[in-house]
Amino acid sequence: MTRLIHGCGAAPVHDRAPNALSRGLSGEHIPDRPVTEPMTALEPRPTAESIREQVIDWRRYLHQHPELSFHEERTSRFIADRLAELDGLEITRPTPTSVLARLVTGRPGRVLAIRADIDALPIAEKNTHDFISTSPGVMHACGHDGHAAMLLGAAAILTSMRDELTGEVRFIFQHAEELLPGGAQELVKAGVLDGVDAVIGAHLWLDLPFGAVGVKTGELMAAADTLRITILGSGGHAATPHQTVDTIAVAAQVITNLQHVVARNVDPLAPAVVTIARIAGGTTHNVIPGSVELEGTIRTFNPRLRDSIGGIIERVIAGVTQAHGARYTLEIERGYAAVNNEEATCDLLRRAVTTALGPDVLVDATPFMGAEDFSAYQKAKPGSFFFVGARNEERGIVHPHHHERFDIDERALDYGTRTFVAAAIDFLGAKHQ
Ligand SMILES: [Zn+2]
Ligand SMILES: [Zn+2]
Repeated sequence: MTRLIHGCGAAPVHDRAPNALSRGLSGEHIPDRPVTEPMTALEPRPTAESIREQVIDWRRYLHQHPELSFHEERTSRFIADRLAELDGLEITRPTPTSVLARLVTGRPGRVLAIRADIDALPIAEKNTHDFISTSPGVMHACGHDGHAAMLLGAAAILTSMRDELTGEVRFIFQHAEELLPGGAQELVKAGVLDGVDAVIGAHLWLDLPFGAVGVKTGELMAAADTLRITILGSGGHAATPHQTVDTIAVAAQVITNLQHVVARNVDPLAPAVVTIARIAGGTTHNVIPGSVELEGTIRTFNPRLRDSIGGIIERVIAGVTQAHGARYTLEIERGYAAVNNEEATCDLLRRAVTTALGPDVLVDATPFMGAEDFSAYQKAKPGSFFFVGARNEERGIVHPHHHERFDIDERALDYGTRTFVAAAIDFLGAKHQ
């Protein structure tokens, strides 16, 4: 166990007039304003209401200082510093840029892990609010700044409730969700789930409006594998294609025929995607290149389909290239497994949403073909992942994840914090506040 020391030195106390902001659940606009280091000392016994503004400040600070996967030095230091301000958390750094905090009550009971990812993306932000990224070309365009802030809020509230809880809550601030091999499997290997009974995690979600929280038992997010193909022929003059094996023409055929893999070889009731997203070949208009590179992604839910679809893809590539006298190389890199939610933890989440936010907030989550390395935790322990609606059409908060103008309705942060807290109280068997 390492107790962490403040990395930021004497920071200015955040200046906040009590009524400067109005952030109720009633839908008011949250004004933009400059964000300094949010170092305000927490009140001794924060509640979801009292910590709401603080969580937004944390999110804005993290948004201003995004860091790429595996390079979350400042981010993880900030998180560890905030956690160190709470009373008696056991804080460790399982990897250089992740943080684990254990709230050990000292009373026997179950152990719930709650995970937030903390990394940003190589995207140049185009938003115009006054807390945009200060790191050129790097942006929190997936909402992980909000995940970290929501979990910090939950840690503050649950820590203040230590005397009412049994067992343990474990807060996992995970690095590198956005880049293979992902931080989750590293943390599982490092033992963050040892002794844990269940694990939950959330994603702020632009496909859901603010005011809705989506939970779904079973398949929620797809497995993602990367496809790399090289078409090999023999180049030559573009005017004499008969003296070449034209890799551009063969690559075009390969791409077209790969569309048949899902359309004609996969059970229509088993979701799957094969996309070629990159093609690179040739240098100029009159030279047929000797090779063409293709890259793409394979998305599946069913593990058996995931294992078999590579064989179908290879059969198509082999057939097309052979027909035209070309050769190929094929590499399929295994990415994250599918997020598959376990029944009991989904029930826990449904109860938590209903208790904390009301029955009208709870909706069935729609599965998504994107991937999440939360699945690495689910391989180790029973766990469920859920979506916190963050879309707001009226305010133009509609841009999808990984978009240069991605944003969230910040009122969603409170919904995430409250759901985490209610789930922990429920799981650990304590009385509600
Ligand atoms: Zn993302
Ligand atoms: Zn994400």
